[in-house]
Amino acid sequence: MSANYFSSDYFEARNKFLEEAARNDGTMKSIVHPSAKGPEGRDLHMDLATFGDPNSKSLLVIISGTHGPEGYCGSGVQTGLLREGLISQWSERIRIALIHAHNPYGFAWDTRFNEDNIDLNRNYLASFEAPLPQNPAYAALHKWAAPQSLDDETMADVQSNLLEYANKNGFPALQAALSSGQYQFPEGVYYGGSGPSWSRNTLISMFDEITVGVEKMVVVDMHTGLGSFGDGEILISLPTGSKETAFCEEIWGDEVHSTKVASVSADLSGTLDEFLAHKYGAIKNAIMALEFGTIDPLSVFKSTQIGSWLHRRGDKNAPYADKLRQFSRDAFYPQREEWSGKVWTRSLEVITKAVNNL
Ligand SMILES: [Zn+2]
Repeated sequence: MSANYFSSDYFEARNKFLEEAARNDGTMKSIVHPSAKGPEGRDLHMDLATFGDPNSKSLLVIISGTHGPEGYCGSGVQTGLLREGLISQWSERIRIALIHAHNPYGFAWDTRFNEDNIDLNRNYLASFEAPLPQNPAYAALHKWAAPQSLDDETMADVQSNLLEYANKNGFPALQAALSSGQYQFPEGVYYGGSGPSWSRNTLISMFDEITVGVEKMVVVDMHTGLGSFGDGEILISLPTGSKETAFCEEIWGDEVHSTKVASVSADLSGTLDEFLAHKYGAIKNAIMALEFGTIDPLSVFKSTQIGSWLHRRGDKNAPYADKLRQFSRDAFYPQREEWSGKVWTRSLEVITKAVNNL
């Protein structure tokens, strides 16, 4: 049943979301991307749907599509919550904001990164003034992380070099080198950008609007690609036990994992949760990423490389592009009922706890 909430492309996902939001009397705001387009030149949007009494002091925010094709998961959950009447039930007491497709370009084209090859969850540095975070381990691996070609010989070389690094330094060190974020290679993977992206500016303007008068806020940013198949881990970038994360722990207890300590993720730079926790620090806030596992990490990384290569060097409209996009999509969105069922059940459990604490 829950499989119906999920879609097979960005446009279908957006239509379902808009339809359900309207049926639930949501107040809509749709911001069209000023330059980037989707397949067939179609417009791309970041959409905001708000529900409930605007004078309520408590706010729940659910964000989908920070990382392109991870949006299938988040969008499906947003649509499911609307369709099952949960948003309308919860919004009798609190305010709810659903932000659909934080990175609509990546969602529509099946790449984790945005129209400028930026990883949005590395783009939320407090400042882009020098010195930017350095990642020398990435610099050493860049050639293999972002290969010039996807031919078999190159990809075999990529794999053996990355595995050699993992064998020498351990798999967590490889994961950290590749994914913690880098600001020196615009053509590379997990690139954080040289300034705030359109998505960041648009999201912040939405937050400025929805947080007026709010005293308590929970933000759930939906992700996929790390962890065991269908399991949902609660991730934060600030250390557990810090003042900023106290409310997270009040809600989810020891289920909260910090990327600073031990989690399915490496320690990251420029993350959304850390940025929002500080920017809206006057509000009692709990801001986290809900990360669902899909397939093994090396295949997820390969699909990340492929998505990025297609955008940077390939031809998105060439006949080979469909296969590459499908490969990338499958890694972040296993289209199986077993997976979507687990995602739905776990999301409901985590989000219900948030609502009960608002
Ligand atoms: Zn993600």
